[in-house]
Amino acid sequence: MPGIMLNLPPVPLQLITLLESAGHAAYAVGGCVRDALLGQTPADWDLCTSARPEEVAAALRPHGITIHETGLQHGTVTAVIDHQPVEITTFRLDGGYTDHRRPDNVIFTDDLTADLSRRDFTVNAMAWGPCQGLADPFGGQADLQAGLLRCVGEPSRRFGEDALRILRCLRFASVLGFSIEESTSRALFDLKDSLAHVAAERIQIELTKLLCGQRARQTLLEYREVVFAVLPRLRPLSGFDQRTPWHCHDIWEHTCAAVEAAPPEPALRWAALLHDCGKPPCFFLRDGAGHFHGHAEVSETMAREILGALKCPKRMIERVAKLVRHHEMRLLEQSPAPAKLRRLLGAFGRETLLDLLELTRADVTAQAPEKLYRLENYQPLRTQIIALAAENPCVSREQLAVNGADLLPLGLRGPQLGQMLERLLEEVLEGRLPNERDALLQFLMLHA
Ligand code: ATP
Ligand code: MG
Repeated sequence: MPGIMLNLPPVPLQLITLLESAGHAAYAVGGCVRDALLGQTPADWDLCTSARPEEVAAALRPHGITIHETGLQHGTVTAVIDHQPVEITTFRLDGGYTDHRRPDNVIFTDDLTADLSRRDFTVNAMAWGPCQGLADPFGGQADLQAGLLRCVGEPSRRFGEDALRILRCLRFASVLGFSIEESTSRALFDLKDSLAHVAAERIQIELTKLLCGQRARQTLLEYREVVFAVLPRLRPLSGFDQRTPWHCHDIWEHTCAAVEAAPPEPALRWAALLHDCGKPPCFFLRDGAGHFHGHAEVSETMAREILGALKCPKRMIERVAKLVRHHEMRLLEQSPAPAKLRRLLGAFGRETLLDLLELTRADVTAQAPEKLYRLENYQPLRTQIIALAAENPCVSREQLAVNGADLLPLGLRGPQLGQMLERLLEEVLEGRLPNERDALLQFLMLHA
């Protein structure tokens, strides 16, 4: 029996068993083995096998298993059992890399170790089978225990083959909270400029995961030069002294702290990363103190450009842009009065308002310690917003208990009609009138 047991779910287990009974070798491999050894539940289980793609199909289809030829040229098929897809990839070696991004060709092999040797980091280069136990030819388990990311093989060659691995390395450092082994770290700095060969969308995907990691702050600080290789417009933040008592950090240090203080969710972490990127061009000194008037708008414009260039989904760009633009509302400075809160809810809606509160909290957390007392306002304000939203209060004209048709008998037309509805909304928002039909009609009689 193998020494190390992993809790393989039924579907991948059944696939391995079927491939083995057809005379092939088959294992769980890569990220799922890493995560399972860390005691985490893998999101998906990838399998590798000595079987060629057509042999995989021949072994599984007779058992009623659907096979999709998803990445045939790379030896990958997807098997589906009970609507659960599992990727199965034939053991392979990568041919030469002429473009720093994709192997020119792949060569199938029967040798598991050869397949593991093409993988990026030792902790990602382990395979596990229910009968064979753990295959770990590169010391992945020891590195996992030490919390170390180390290239399989010669780091500069491996990063030279595929520059995306540079960002994957930072991503895993941030997500797993691992350190980067010295020669791997050196190669990563040396080869950072080859990231120019990597497709924008793949850069975006890795950066997003990096930002959402548990150790985003330290990774962004320590590897800032690599980050600036893909986000050059953020470079001016580094070393930028804000010359204000509000901040004890330069803008980059403040930014990195804000990222980690934000909830680990892509839009919020991107917003934290970009919220002050417009500060350097807005900087001016008055009486020896730094000011940044208008920086939120400049940051918004830059955020749109940066995320657009990274081929971020449109919806995400809009969300981030909105958060960046309004990050300066000073929500935590004093608790907003009920009328103000209703206006905010009307202007932003519940989700965005709560996100803005989270961003403000992250921003304040990353400022000078003397300002931290403001965080006391966070929890009560959050509770207040949630309670208010649950009441579904009237915060827009459309929600008023009267509509345009009710105003026609009063002789109101066109713009006057709109103005009167706006006035009614004001009264309701300010709490001077309840949003009730009779009360609103009575007000109209008196004021129309
Ligand atoms: P996650 O799925 O959590 O993002 P992962 O390690 O599973 O992490 P995948 O992109 O799913 O990452 O890749 C699966 C495996 O394929 C990796 O664990 C690694 O062994 C290998 N791999 C992925 N990308 C590369 C690459 N660019 N270079 C070398 N090996 C890679
Ligand atoms: Mg994976």
